[in-house]
Amino acid sequence: MHAVGSWQALHGRFADLPVVHWPQHLIAPGFVDLHSHYPQTDIIGSPAEGLLPWLENYTFPEEKRFAAPDYCAQAATFFIAECQRNGITTALTFATTHPASVQAIFGAAQDAGLRLISGLCLMDRNAPAELLNQPHGGVDATEQSLLHSEALIARWHGTGRLGYAITPRFAPTCSEAQLRGAGELAARHPTVWIQSHVAENRLEIQWARALFPASGSYLGTYADFGLLRRRAVYAHCIHFDDADRALMQRSGAAAAVCPSSNLFLGSGFFDYARADAAGLRYGLANDVGGGTSFSPFHTMLAAYYVAREGQGKTGMSLSPQHLWWQHTAGAAAALGLDGVVGNLLPGCEADFVLLNPQATPLLARKTARADSLDELLFAMIVLGDDRLVEQTFVAGAAGKAPPG
Ligand SMILES: [Zn+2]
Repeated sequence: MHAVGSWQALHGRFADLPVVHWPQHLIAPGFVDLHSHYPQTDIIGSPAEGLLPWLENYTFPEEKRFAAPDYCAQAATFFIAECQRNGITTALTFATTHPASVQAIFGAAQDAGLRLISGLCLMDRNAPAELLNQPHGGVDATEQSLLHSEALIARWHGTGRLGYAITPRFAPTCSEAQLRGAGELAARHPTVWIQSHVAENRLEIQWARALFPASGSYLGTYADFGLLRRRAVYAHCIHFDDADRALMQRSGAAAAVCPSSNLFLGSGFFDYARADAAGLRYGLANDVGGGTSFSPFHTMLAAYYVAREGQGKTGMSLSPQHLWWQHTAGAAAALGLDGVVGNLLPGCEADFVLLNPQATPLLARKTARADSLDELLFAMIVLGDDRLVEQTFVAGAAGKAPPG
């Protein structure tokens, strides 16, 4: 991005450039999404009696298919295209325990020019045997998972717009040795990201506490193994106490708030008031496939519902601008990528979306009545979906083609 301003202010400086005119449209930063599982794209909207049957009947069988590189490649290509159709231009996403799943998502993102962060899922216990990290050539599964991670860092981290994330699935599916090794890897590679889950639901917390009784809390387990630092992003962060929030704030780690997933699975409600009081870093995430949509508009609306809930915590109405910030500049800052993406300021990468507020009859009727920026943004948050995103530009190039 070289300059931002009115035609009158800028046209003299760029007189030799061709001009594109988009009347009645809006240009906004590309959306930054802090948490998803690309291998779960096809299990969005799977009916189940809660989290455990959902994992057993849908998630685990689907993730097993990622042992086949061809299966990974077609899923990765679809996921990247779906991000672009919805205006997501930076994504932090899980792969599976299969190294081919990581190669596939980085390859597809590279082809599309998308900024993407991913990593090999670390999971050496407490899941179906086929889904665990596998031993290889006399090296045990735990050690092999760390060797694979290090090789994938060397291959992909900092290649073009790609970044690597050390990815323990969550503490209950990782042995102490694996968490310790992941922490050592994170210390050796300070610019690499870390992604995992924490405090999504109460049974999970009890399980984590039973497996790591020496830690002060579930979040504290990650801190004990060196996995809480800047560039660490933890999905959910719902059932925290103030000590957890203070620990997270001090460490520089950030929360990926996953509102559509939390509502779908009945996990609970992220406490915005206490997060803000603690100075916590956070941003929004679709958490596909526990989440119900790729659309940043659906995610922002779900965040509004979650914040509004006031039975078990302080309810509040998040402003449209704050909701939008959580999915752009706020999410970028959570990743340590402020000044790089999530903003239209000069110096940022030219990731942006072209929005058409007349995309549907109801949107056209409603946005025509907007008397302020807040009213216009909120109409789009409540009524918008992929139809609102007419084009997505990554690094200045049009990705999603205009309709027709
Ligand atoms: Zn997740």
